[in-house]
Amino acid sequence: MTIRVTVWNEHRHELRDPAVKAIYPHGIHEAIAQALRKHPDFTVRTATLDEPEHGLSAAILTETDVLIWWGHVAHHEVSDTVVDHVVQRVWEGMGFIALHSAHFSKPFKRLMGTDCALRWREASDKERLWVVDPAHPIAQGLPDYFELEREEMYGEFFGVPQPEALVFVSWFSGGEVFRSGCCWSRGLGKVFYFRPGHETYPTYHHPLVQQVIVNAVRWAAPTPVGRFTRDVRRPSAPLEATS
Ligand code: ZN
Repeated sequence: MTIRVTVWNEHRHELRDPAVKAIYPHGIHEAIAQALRKHPDFTVRTATLDEPEHGLSAAILTETDVLIWWGHVAHHEVSDTVVDHVVQRVWEGMGFIALHSAHFSKPFKRLMGTDCALRWREASDKERLWVVDPAHPIAQGLPDYFELEREEMYGEFFGVPQPEALVFVSWFSGGEVFRSGCCWSRGLGKVFYFRPGHETYPTYHHPLVQQVIVNAVRWAAPTPVGRFTRDVRRPSAPLEATS
């Protein structure tokens, strides 16, 4: 079955900072989209902040099975109306994958209900990501651990609800650890947070990072709900006779 993916990126660093543009000449969204397009069961579109409705009209969201989100400096520019639609679609079953600094994005914070704050340092630490749930679909095909030679450090405490599944724990060369691959369900939708991806490093070109995102798309795709209905617009009739 085809999975319809929308890769959303605020797309500001790449336009302003030559060092970031050199790594992602067509934007972080295109680097991720290109990796996903190698998989024939995905149809992939991209959307960015400066498009009308941030490229996330109600029609596009209705046609999105999994939404991937990267944002950093412009979280506050994201319209609350668009955030409402995104969150509503997650409750209806759309998957949502928040990458790196999207821990502070409006839709992720709304879905978590907590401050989502964390410890951080931009000092080119080495990151070692350990698979701590090898049987999880998002860990499929991965080695016991993999390393990113240079990344921003994110450390605990990460202010999120306890994950329903924890797939990765990162260690950093400065000594910190971080829950770097976390799963939650929200309504009928699945949410995955994946930590790596600071804009000044080529993280999204790394084949294992791409594999995690591919696995996460497959995991977060809506589960067919068959004959399930959820009619909450009128009082519910009793299933047993009452006197
Ligand atoms: Zn960062």
